[in-house]
Amino acid sequence: MTAEGPTACLLSTGEEVLRGEIFDTNNHFLARTLGERGFQVQMMLTAGDRREDLAFAMRTALARADYVFMSGGLGPTDDDLTAAVAAEVAGVGLRFDAPSWAAICALFRRNNLEPGPNNRKQALFPEGATVLPNALGTAPGFSLALASGGVRKTLVALPGPPRELQPMLLTYLDATAPNPEAPDANLFIRFLGQGESHLSERLEPWSKIWGPVSFRQAFPEIEVKLYRPDPACAAELCRFADRELADCVLDFAPLSTLELFAEFMRERGQTLALAESCTGGLAAKLITDAAGASAYFLGSVVSYENAVKERLLGVDPAALTGQGAVSEAVALQMAIGARERLGADLALSFTGVAGPGGGTPEKPVGTVWMARADADGAAARLLQLSQGRDRIRQAAVSHGLRWLMEAWLAERRRHSLQVA
Ligand code: ATP
Ligand code: MG
Repeated sequence: MTAEGPTACLLSTGEEVLRGEIFDTNNHFLARTLGERGFQVQMMLTAGDRREDLAFAMRTALARADYVFMSGGLGPTDDDLTAAVAAEVAGVGLRFDAPSWAAICALFRRNNLEPGPNNRKQALFPEGATVLPNALGTAPGFSLALASGGVRKTLVALPGPPRELQPMLLTYLDATAPNPEAPDANLFIRFLGQGESHLSERLEPWSKIWGPVSFRQAFPEIEVKLYRPDPACAAELCRFADRELADCVLDFAPLSTLELFAEFMRERGQTLALAESCTGGLAAKLITDAAGASAYFLGSVVSYENAVKERLLGVDPAALTGQGAVSEAVALQMAIGARERLGADLALSFTGVAGPGGGTPEKPVGTVWMARADADGAAARLLQLSQGRDRIRQAAVSHGLRWLMEAWLAERRRHSLQVA
């Protein structure tokens, strides 16, 4: 039920990539961005700085896909061969582009430097290429239409440095992509707390009618994706998720729990305090990863030890000895204590067994009690998590934040369903 977009091959270049000295983040960025824009990425290749390898990789990529996106090899040195090899493959000569040369000279002079004679090479492009200006470096990119096997293809050559490649790609796609409406035409929905196979089973009543979806793990979330779906199919999936998967769906957008939470708190205009035991400050860390968190986040009491729960949060020693630190009663008292002592509108607490040791038959590893407190009172919820210490702690935080914004998320989804 998805319309097919143009095909693309990615070709990164350079000995550093080939020898594993740097990570190929360019192909990663290209794959993700192009996928989101409706391209079907079919292959990723890497070639070193040898002319014959580059030519072979370029011809192979062009034979397979409508578009080839290259990175690197646009600099001034002898190992930068992209323009020369692209011209050879296209069967054209190289052309000197005076405006690009003027831009390169201007950039050098802004930095009180003089361009060297080899920089002139960066203003040489295959005949017929369209120059892609580089606002952040000396190497302009280019796009080139050429024929392979009698079919029209497009080669897009981008600079190696990621900070130059990324804006150049986005500008190119905004200006010339065959399908400018594609970013909004894809549907990505995030779910929290479901494994891929379980989620796929729960989606079966929908997928039996409409066809398969793609999944991407973004722990603790999972993203369900439809590329350029038929609008009726996309709308039906949103309605199905809202109706049948309300316990785990976040929003009809590729936004994480944390991104949604920052928006929720900003809209709500209230303050938040935390009391953390098993999460050890992770909730505070993740919340403050968002710039501007000081507008709503007051702080966290990391009360790992029972005495700290008593002294800093006012937890009753009888609850700690009676029900134990990992209990509904203690979680509630931690949240209430944090709210009062930090003077917050809203508080959230976590106390659990992150493992690997410390589990009992009654409270196995992965048992986490969380509690929330606000002006209307307090409530607690029990989680049974798995997959090791790191994942238990990370999932606990996301579940807690999702819980705080549950009603807001439902309202937000209802609103998007009405608008669609
Ligand atoms: P320059 O003008 O800097 O020479 P260039 O377009 O010729 O740019 P390269 O020489 O291939 O590009 O690479 C320049 C730098 O860009 C590398 O040293 C590396 O830091 C980064 N880079 C290149 N390719 C990649 C890649 N695939 N992934 C991540 N970084 C890369
Ligand atoms: Mg270079």
